[in-house]
Order: sequence, then structure tokens, then C-alpha cells
Amino acid sequence: MAKQKQQSLRIIPLGGLGEVGRNMTLFEWKEKILIVDMGLRMPEENMPGIDYIIPNINYLRGREKDILGILFTHGHYDHIGAVPYLIEKLGNPEIFASPLTRGIILKRQDDFPNQPRLEINEVKDGSKIRLGPFRIEFFKINHNIPDNLGLFIETPIGNILHTSDFKFDPAPVNDLPTNFQKLRRLAKGKILLLMSDSTGAEEDGHSLSEKDILKNLEEIFREAGGRIIAATFASLINRIQQIITLSEKFGRKVILEGYSMKTNVEIARILGYLKIKKGTLINSKEIENYPDSRITILGTGAQGEGSAVLMRIANKEHPFIRLRKGDSVILSSSVIPGNERTVQVLKDEILRQGAMVFHYQMMDIHAGGHAQKEELKEMIKIMRPRFFLPIHGQYSMLVSHANLAQKIGIPEKNIAVAENGQIINLTRQRILIEKTEIPSNYVMVDGLGIGDVGEVVLRDRQMLAKDGMFVIVAVVDRQTGKVRGSPDIISRGFVYLRESKELLKETRRRVIGIIHKTTGSGGAVNWVYVKDEIRNKIGQFLFSRTQRRPMILPVVIEV
Ligand SMILES: [Zn+2]
Repeated sequence: MAKQKQQSLRIIPLGGLGEVGRNMTLFEWKEKILIVDMGLRMPEENMPGIDYIIPNINYLRGREKDILGILFTHGHYDHIGAVPYLIEKLGNPEIFASPLTRGIILKRQDDFPNQPRLEINEVKDGSKIRLGPFRIEFFKINHNIPDNLGLFIETPIGNILHTSDFKFDPAPVNDLPTNFQKLRRLAKGKILLLMSDSTGAEEDGHSLSEKDILKNLEEIFREAGGRIIAATFASLINRIQQIITLSEKFGRKVILEGYSMKTNVEIARILGYLKIKKGTLINSKEIENYPDSRITILGTGAQGEGSAVLMRIANKEHPFIRLRKGDSVILSSSVIPGNERTVQVLKDEILRQGAMVFHYQMMDIHAGGHAQKEELKEMIKIMRPRFFLPIHGQYSMLVSHANLAQKIGIPEKNIAVAENGQIINLTRQRILIEKTEIPSNYVMVDGLGIGDVGEVVLRDRQMLAKDGMFVIVAVVDRQTGKVRGSPDIISRGFVYLRESKELLKETRRRVIGIIHKTTGSGGAVNWVYVKDEIRNKIGQFLFSRTQRRPMILPVVIEV
């Protein structure tokens, strides 16, 4: 690597789908690298068969010895979920995390039996560590999962404050309110750069306190006469606590459904982050021992995820839970962009089966764990940073956050709006984005395969899903270059063959024509070219007749 002329720190956000630095961020000083978080993204609707998107770590290949360690801010999957896929490739560096985050990472690791048991150093509010040129102090900050830690990083050129995901909460669940004194003390150390959560930067006002959310949920519990079926993320420990607390208050037993829900509750309970009375949790077989008004079912699936509990219930694929009139279904999480349509279909299906749906848009029962405009301004005012880098958000959120910062006095030239894979170059005097980028294209996880599904495979899947497949099998005489018999055609998801006799007849005629033209009189034939010609010409022909573009697979058998 080229020596840098000036003493500068490089900050590199990584991850998928525009959520800048949410999944992973690198801090590089003189070739030594500190990593913050290692999470994953859920795929979008147009990525059939893809389970996750993980950060591209090509930049770190061959540089394992330069990695100082990994700091985890909190236990959400978009911050920890890529660990089983990436940690070994990075040479198993040292890891630092709070007790709950550590518990969630370790539990997830158990799902990957080939992975080694990880050593994770526990840190908490006030912990200080030194890693190479960096000194880090962890500080507690509210979010919608307990044990969330912000980072105060002393670097050779100045101090960086990384907020993690955060909100200011005067009344959190199982947690202390925001410690403003502590934040002010950290600010006294002079902040060169503030890196702040932008998720809520387009929302006016102040985020709801967890207490307000509890109040709104309580309304639903008070009104509900039948079963309550609550769906949320397994990692939203606070929401899970609220639903359990309310169930206890209204005399309901709670059934946990879904593997990730059960395991997360178990970890959080053991570590003391979830308070559950004895006898509250019952197993699914006991459900019939209680009237509907005494039952809460808590599961995953508020995003309409195909394999999650709520989807299985709505699709009547769940082994014993069927929706019925009188059920109240709570979708307690905001919809991740890209999932809107799926969630809409899910809501419709639930209503069709006679249950009621409560959604965050109708009542503030999610309202997220992220600071909104007023809190974001407050954070900037407390830290009074010289430079500002909005992180954790789609581009529009970063821009909105940058505008906010400008309005309250940070000069435009001191603000960098970056994208994943870009290199933010910071000195004492300036912040800029370097011209060269590092590889940041998506790495897709498909089952157990990592990165073996590239864009080509994805495009194939999209094509198959949209317009189906069209296989042409032709037997060609090697000597003469002539087609023997009539080519076979197999199609799936394209047209109903029996009703398309004319189309198929014409297609066969054209295939024979193409082969005869391209093979000449046989002998040394370029079969790759023959297949390409079939693919292109038949593709055009089918499109002209049907306005569809099925995937065409020419199979030429030489005899
Ligand atoms: Zn989070």
C-alpha cells in the first residue's frame, strides 16, 4: 500500500444496499485497522433465494495481521449478523462487546457448528481499552435493545464520537435514561469528528419513549377480547419485554414461537435483560388449557418474512395455530424499505381470516429506536464537533442529517456524506472523500454458500421468476450439420404449451433454420456460437410474439 503523505485517518463504511456504515466500518491509521460492527442486511424483494447480504471484505484480504480488533455496538443483526460468515476470514481478531451483545453473538455462533467457539471480551459503560494507536471508551446510550454502547475513540489526530444506533429516552425499558452528564463530559475532551445515527433524520420532533410505546400497546391489550398474536423482531428485546409485561398485567400466558425468538429470550433472560414472572411462559401444547382471552402468542414475522411465524400462521402452514375471529394481530416493527408489498399482502391475509391487525402506522407501537430531528440536533449541540459524518441510513437520511448539522452551525465543508466503499480521509484540518473506492458490491449469502451467488445468478433468478424458462433440445448430426428430427421444447412458467402450438411450431422451424445456417455442412463447428445464436434469435422471436423474456437454454446434442 502507498504511504500516505499526510497523517490522516481513513474511515471506510461497508455493507449492503446503501445503509452507510450500518453493517461495518473500518478505521485505518498507518495500516492498522480497527473494525466497528459486522452485520448483515436482509435482501430485497427482487433477490429471489438470497438469505442475507454481508459486507464485502476484499479490502481486508491479506491484511489480517493489521486488524487490531472488532468493537460491537449492540446486538441487532444488522450489526452482528455477519460474524459467522466473516470472522474466520479475518483471522479471528480480538472482539469486544457488552454482555447482551456478547450473548447474542455467541448464541448465533452455535447455529454454525463448524465455527470455532469465540472469545469475546466483555465491555460496559465506562470500559476503556487500547488497541494500537486507538484508545476507546465505551459509553451507554439508549436504543430499542439494552446494552447498546457508543464509542469515544481517541486517535492520534483527535477524538471521534460514534453514537451507535441511538435515541434519547427519558423512560426506557429495563434500562437507565440517557446520561447527558456523561455525554457532556465526553464532549469536553474536544470532538474532532461526530459520527451519528441518521435513521430518524427525516422524522420531525422527538422519538417516542419506550414508555409511550408501552402505553399504546396497553390500549390494544385492554381492548382485545381474544388471543393476541404479536410479531416483532427477535432482537427487539425491549418490545418483547413490553409485550410480556402487558400479558402479565392482563393475566395472559405467553407462548413464544420461532427459533430466534426463543433463543433470544433465553439469552436475555439469563443475562437479566428480560424480566419474566414464573409461570408466564407456557409451551404451545398448553394453549388449549386457556381461554383465548388469556393467551398471547409472541413470534417473529412483522416484516412478512417467508419463514417467520406470522407468515406461517397467515398461510395456514403453522402446525397448530390458525387465525380466527377475535384475534388481534400486532405488527410491532416499522417496515424495512423493500418489504412494503409483502407486509401489505400479509395484512390482507390476516384480515381475510377475520382477525384484527394493529400496525405501527395506525398506532405508535413501533416508533423505532432511533433519534429524530430534535434529538439529533441536541446530540450535535452537545458534542460540538469540528467535523460531521452522518452514518447508519439511506442516502436521503444522510443528506437530511447533513442539512440539520449545517443549520446548527457546522460548515458544509466540514461535513462528509459518504457511501459504502468510499474512503473518508480525515486530518486535524479537513475531511474529504478520496477518489478511489474499495470494492463494496454485495456479497450474497444463499443457504450455506457465501458470495457464490453473483449478479449473474441473481439476474437468472429474477428472469426465471418473472418470465420462466424455455429449454430447446436439438439433436444434430456431427457429419452433416443437420438437425435430426424435430427439436424438443420444454418450458416452465412461460406459456402453456398446449395452447401455444403455433408458437412452438414456428420456434422449432426457426431453431432448425438457425442451426443449419450456423453449422454449414458440418465438420468443425463452433457450438458455442450456435447456442448463442439460438439464444439471441429465439429470444427476440419469443419477445416479439409474447412480450416476455424467458430464460432460454439451448441444448445441442451432437451424434
Ligand atoms: Zn440497532
